[in-house]
Amino acid sequence: MRRCWAEPFKIKMVEPIRTTSLAERQRALGAAGFNTFLLRSEDVYIDLLTDSGTSAMSDRQWAAMMLGDEAYAGSANYYHLEQAVHRFYGFKHLIPTHQGRGAEHLLSRILIKPGDIVPGNMYFTTTKAHQELAGGRFHDVIIDEAHDPESEHPFKGNVDLDKLESLIRAAGASRIPYLSLELNVNMAGGQPCSMENIRASSELCHRHDIKVYLDATRAIENAWFIKQRERGYADRSVASILLEICTHADGATISSKKDHLVNIGGMLLTNDDELADEARNLGVLFEGLHTYGGLAGRDLEAIAVGIAEAVQDDHMHARIGQVEYLADRLLAAGIPIVRPTGGHGVFIDARRFLPHVPQQQFPAQALAAEIYLDSGVRSMERGAVSAGRHPDTGENIMPRLELVRLAIPRRVYTQAHMDVTCESIASIYDERRRIHGLRMVCEPKRLRFFQARFEPLRDAGSLCIASRRPDGAASSNPS
Ligand SMILES: *Cc1c(COP(=O)(O)O)cnc(C)c1O
Repeated sequence: MRRCWAEPFKIKMVEPIRTTSLAERQRALGAAGFNTFLLRSEDVYIDLLTDSGTSAMSDRQWAAMMLGDEAYAGSANYYHLEQAVHRFYGFKHLIPTHQGRGAEHLLSRILIKPGDIVPGNMYFTTTKAHQELAGGRFHDVIIDEAHDPESEHPFKGNVDLDKLESLIRAAGASRIPYLSLELNVNMAGGQPCSMENIRASSELCHRHDIKVYLDATRAIENAWFIKQRERGYADRSVASILLEICTHADGATISSKKDHLVNIGGMLLTNDDELADEARNLGVLFEGLHTYGGLAGRDLEAIAVGIAEAVQDDHMHARIGQVEYLADRLLAAGIPIVRPTGGHGVFIDARRFLPHVPQQQFPAQALAAEIYLDSGVRSMERGAVSAGRHPDTGENIMPRLELVRLAIPRRVYTQAHMDVTCESIASIYDERRRIHGLRMVCEPKRLRFFQARFEPLRDAGSLCIASRRPDGAASSNPS
């Protein structure tokens, strides 16, 4: 008989959350310009905006916070974190940064010259923005299956080696400073790379003297999928798979706000002595001295403990297991989601959910707004708004993936929260024809999805499901 699993922890402290009335949510959404990023968190019931910096720390991590050595230079916590990095990632140098984008900034500034091309397996917003800020141009080399939400490919994060090789041939290796290899590719739906593909991509690059830098923000989740899905890894520990992944790269940027189970932090890791020197130099300007990188000593200590917890197989089992639970429930309700289930959340395919809303009218943004209105569950758009505009033509980019992301914070919510979320989305799905698109009325120049504002295309159009419902209930109950 198949047996259930359960979380490898019990709850010691709770944070109350508040249900809201429909009228309150309508007011809040209007004030936020229909952008879930602009909602106040106190107006949110279940917050699935992001898994970034939203993890619950363990009692050991909180205890570690008390061991903060807040010396300006050479804090003991830096050396503890360095030990954890050596042990679990294996890279030689650690340059802490305030969060992931700090590391991306340093790496891009050091390695990219104007006119360079940086291949990557699908873009990530901040990664691409920093590559462009440094004068480079991102070039997508992910396999085609990654752009197909219905493909069941087990490693949709994989690099298409033919695409990479053609790019090297066309552009010349000298114009390609490094391959930006993201693990558990966020924008593809948290989809992993196989070890075989990581190895082959790295061999191809190194043959042409092109470096390989991992976006290892979710490398530990990727290691779990390798254990689950790749031949020869079932009996290996997540920790040993992580170490093997890292042997194929020259270094990595990491946002500690994801895998590492802390609320803030990041790092640049590298085996390259020269690059490390330069990063430490630049880091003083942009982040802080190289032994704290914009973080307090206590933050460094919490990361060191968090890494050791994150590589535990039973932690990863529960983490990914909870995401799979929500995905399976949504699938059973007939909701179109990206397949197979990814690492950090469930991604609803807004094109198939709202086939009557053209992509120019931001269906994923509209659906995220509607979900909030229905139940106070906060999700995020990952589609045309996030993709931004083409740097040359200024045209809106229309990505094939038009998704709403339900990101699951680590160790934060229970199965019942997942049930409430699923029921809300299922009830919206039943009435999806009533949902209209949005018009962008305020567009920031950079990373516009964070602060853009929208208006419904028809008067109160997107409010019409809600306006039929009695006020007062936080969560819909269609039956
Ligand atoms: C979150 C994230 C980043 C950026 O990290 P921040 O800590 O938010 O600056 C970079 N890459 C990936 C894949 C991420 O998920």
